[in-house]
Amino acid sequence: MSWFIRKEKGIITPTEMKREAPDGLWYQCSNCKKISATREHKLNAYTCIHCNYHEKIGSEAYFELLFDDNEFVELDVELTSGDPLKFVDTKAYPDRVKATMSKTGLRDAVRTGHGKMNGSPLVIAAMDFNFIGGSMGSVVGEKIARAISYSLQHKTPFLMISKSGGARMMEAGFSLMQMAKTSARLAQLLEAKIPYVSLLTDPTTGGVTASYAMLGDFNISEPGALIGFAGPRVIRETIGKDLPKDFQSAEFVLEHGFLDFIVDRKDLKDKLSSLLTMLR
Ligand SMILES: [Zn+2]
Repeated sequence: MSWFIRKEKGIITPTEMKREAPDGLWYQCSNCKKISATREHKLNAYTCIHCNYHEKIGSEAYFELLFDDNEFVELDVELTSGDPLKFVDTKAYPDRVKATMSKTGLRDAVRTGHGKMNGSPLVIAAMDFNFIGGSMGSVVGEKIARAISYSLQHKTPFLMISKSGGARMMEAGFSLMQMAKTSARLAQLLEAKIPYVSLLTDPTTGGVTASYAMLGDFNISEPGALIGFAGPRVIRETIGKDLPKDFQSAEFVLEHGFLDFIVDRKDLKDKLSSLLTMLR
């Protein structure tokens, strides 16, 4: 039975020889469930190599995709939310903000910056959905308004990348005022004839759709994005009718005239560049 007896004890690979697979080496698509290498998925602009599903990404990834060599200057980094209403739900609002900050490393649901895209200056405001559902509170509104002012001062085109569940309920009326503030600032941009492109990504809803997201010289979207104002359940209950298939998908919204075109994220940078060249 000597063949059955282990002569040496345990696993003998020395620790320094062990090669561990790093976490997140593989990406599983949440749409088709197929697997691809994380690196390949990233190189493919976070779209699935099998079904072209556009994974939800945040400001960090968009900045890296669009700004040349990921070089940009971030604006108003320090701006953080107050608690004007002393709002408490399951948690006090300041505690929720603090917890979200440490979980996400973000300071609020939008980041703004200026840099170059294919050699031309551009200001980008990109929203982050993982910060309280990408909700628009006073910090989001203020940062967007200031980014638009920067565009105005430097005569630089403005790109807004929206991804939001709508207004931030913990700031109630203060959130709603951001719709008027950002819209007014965009009107100044229009008057100065500085191009504004609005990119709606999955999902863009509520007060964001009802203000700056739909005010672009061009309103464009990524494929398959959910775009709407109220949620489908609310609409169904209000009108008492079943809704059409793919209601509120980017494709449906395009067909009904609310979007100019849908752009694959892999072509985003080049398409934006040629669009802005045309508008200049
Ligand atoms: Zn897929």
